[in-house]
Amino acid sequence: MTRNGQAATIPDDAILTPSARELLQDLEASGAKAIAAAASAPAVKAASETLAPPAKKLNSKSPKSELEAFFNSPYANSLKEQICEMGHRLWKRAYVDGNGGNMAIRVGEDIALCTPTLVSKGSLKPSDMCLVDFEGNQLCGTKKRTSEILMHLQMMKKQPKAFATCHCHPPYATAFAVAGIAPPTCMLPEYEVFCSVGVAPYRTPGSPDMGKLVADLTDEYNTILMANHGVVTWSHNNIEEAYWRMEIIEAYCRTIVVAGQLGKPINTFTGPQMKELLNIKQSLGFVDPRIGMKECELCDSGEWRPGATSPTTESGSPSIGLDPEAEAAVKAITDQILAQMK
Ligand SMILES: [Zn+2]
Repeated sequence: MTRNGQAATIPDDAILTPSARELLQDLEASGAKAIAAAASAPAVKAASETLAPPAKKLNSKSPKSELEAFFNSPYANSLKEQICEMGHRLWKRAYVDGNGGNMAIRVGEDIALCTPTLVSKGSLKPSDMCLVDFEGNQLCGTKKRTSEILMHLQMMKKQPKAFATCHCHPPYATAFAVAGIAPPTCMLPEYEVFCSVGVAPYRTPGSPDMGKLVADLTDEYNTILMANHGVVTWSHNNIEEAYWRMEIIEAYCRTIVVAGQLGKPINTFTGPQMKELLNIKQSLGFVDPRIGMKECELCDSGEWRPGATSPTTESGSPSIGLDPEAEAAVKAITDQILAQMK
């Protein structure tokens, strides 16, 4: 209508997508009749768009009424919506199973928004979200907070830059976590720039010990494989970036597993190529223990490579049933026990 010179009337409360708003602004700029109100109508927020946080920083000791007001503020609501959007993406990509997976966002000195327990990430709603203090005590929200919150909070306490954290069980990356292998490096640029991967040993999910082992890795790594469990990531920017790390490590693990089946040697980056990627990484403010290393040190590790067989019976690793002396001793003891039982 505007293009044809008609006075299009767009209701005051109309919600315009960013591209629609841009189109209207372009039409206005090109002299066509546009509606000022429409151009200033609020756009639908992209997940990565965040409202400015409130000027007053709250903490766990703030009055209950202020915490409640904050919890229901437009800022907190925009973060809740972002968490839901990421939850839906995690579920659609089959990175979570049952009620698995959880996320948190730091919103004050020692408080964080987080996902509830026992809710599928596929059906997450903003009204499901919780506010907790850094000890895991729930401050606001009607649903109970996730049982794995301690790990997220310990990460935030240990790594002051961690603004958002995301945990899930993407199958390919989790397979590496089950095998106890850090994915080999120097093969794909996205992975090198966005992820720095450390491996934390297994502990019971939700236990303080688990949280500590993960938190201790956050100085140098933003993506942590949790042995026999899954992956947890953090971002200094927003929850979507923490989520992106999941997509990137999962795609990477899947790609190298397939590459290993092609029957050809795998090509890797040279030291100088790798150095360039790490320079980009550094400029984006991402951590990586390799930043500052010499080029020749970047890609020469003897870790597992796609297509290679893990050396389980070589290099002096113990193998069962090959020591005749021990076998004889075991047999003697077994015979004795059996004789006693008779
Ligand atoms: Zn988990």
